[in-house]
Amino acid sequence: MRRHPRHVYLALGSNLGDREAHLRAAVRGLREGGVAVDAVSSLYETPPWGVLDQPPFRNAAVGGLSSLCPSAILDLAKRLEAEAGRNFGAERWTARPLDIDIALIEGERVDEPDLTVPHTLLTERSFVLVPLAEVAGEVRHPLAGMRIRTLRDLRPASERRAVRRVAGPEWVDG
Ligand code: ADP
Ligand code: MG
Repeated sequence: MRRHPRHVYLALGSNLGDREAHLRAAVRGLREGGVAVDAVSSLYETPPWGVLDQPPFRNAAVGGLSSLCPSAILDLAKRLEAEAGRNFGAERWTARPLDIDIALIEGERVDEPDLTVPHTLLTERSFVLVPLAEVAGEVRHPLAGMRIRTLRDLRPASERRAVRRVAGPEWVDG
């Protein structure tokens, strides 16, 4: 479904295979699929979250305008995850070549069985908040009532420090 374009913000992660190549392919695929990505965060190396016995992640966040409805953005994200070779039978929070989460959509709240926007765990994840604050720092989280920048600053310093910047936004062109 197409409609009035809105700003959407996505969180990207990879901890299997050529992690940066998977993230670049994700940005390319989002652009080709109808998300006009115009902001890319730095690239971060982050420890695993939830299930600790797995390789470290590379994480980034992107923002852009899209006229796709939320479920079409989720379908696009899942298609790109599948193209990266993701095994959808694997346990939750385990190693994956590509994870694309819809962090926020401007002026939108979604509460469906397969899609919650803003992403439920957004406010608890420094590996999302740190990159997201670069592209959506001034955007207000509609439930928390705070800006993304503020939510990032409220995370424990030790957790934020573990999210290590390894390259500027030019990683996407590499
Ligand atoms: P996580 O991203 O938390 O590590 P998964 O990537 O395995 O977990 O996601 C599992 C499911 O979460 C997806 O199949 C999707 O339907 C659902 N989901 C709910 N809200 C969102 C969202 N905002 N963005 C992406 N997926 C979401
Ligand atoms: Mg996901």
